[in-house]
Amino acid sequence: MKIVLATSNKGKIREFKEYLKDFEVYSFGEIMDEFEIEEYGKTFKENAIIKACAVFGKIKDDEKDVIVLSDDSGISVPLLNNEPGIYSARYAGFPTNAKKNLEFLVQKIKDKNVQKTPAYYTACIALVTKQGKFSVHGWMYGEVITTPKGENGFGYDPIFIPEGFDKTLGELDDEVKEKFSHRARALNLAKVILKTLK
Ligand code: IMP
Repeated sequence: MKIVLATSNKGKIREFKEYLKDFEVYSFGEIMDEFEIEEYGKTFKENAIIKACAVFGKIKDDEKDVIVLSDDSGISVPLLNNEPGIYSARYAGFPTNAKKNLEFLVQKIKDKNVQKTPAYYTACIALVTKQGKFSVHGWMYGEVITTPKGENGFGYDPIFIPEGFDKTLGELDDEVKEKFSHRARALNLAKVILKTLK
């Protein structure tokens, strides 16, 4: 069955297409006119379901034999009361800008007079099909630093050092995220559900 990704985030699309090589995967922008999805939920799970339902709702009735997959994710810093969390994509305000978000987070950490502090990524993946709605979560723990390093990944990756490593995700090979990231972990669980839906 076709998988339709309910995201226009290029970093997420690249990772999902890589992780789901055995499936036929399209971003929703490839099968319909892209539209803005308002994320009014209070949790990663609510937002993931909102996004997947918004895209599933736009698919024509006779083409609904697909699985819509969404991801709501973000980084949380306990020192900052778990900010930015669900607001990661818009931490520095609108229009959203990944570099500005990273710089905003770096400044907030520097304001606490530290150069590194624990942090974790969360991903909730929702699957919406004719059979119903499903959701799973994955996490990746580590630390954030105030000096961005490396060009790999996206978003906050240049300041995130995963547990067990001494380099940022910006510096580490993509395979590290493919094995240990919040998104990869959630996707491993989602694949169990996908098997039952196929
Ligand atoms: P969403 O599209 O509303 O789920 O927002 C996700 C945001 O969280 C992204 O725009 C990034 O700022 C951040 N984020 C989520 N996953 C990652 C990741 O794997 N690396 C870096 N930043 C991430």
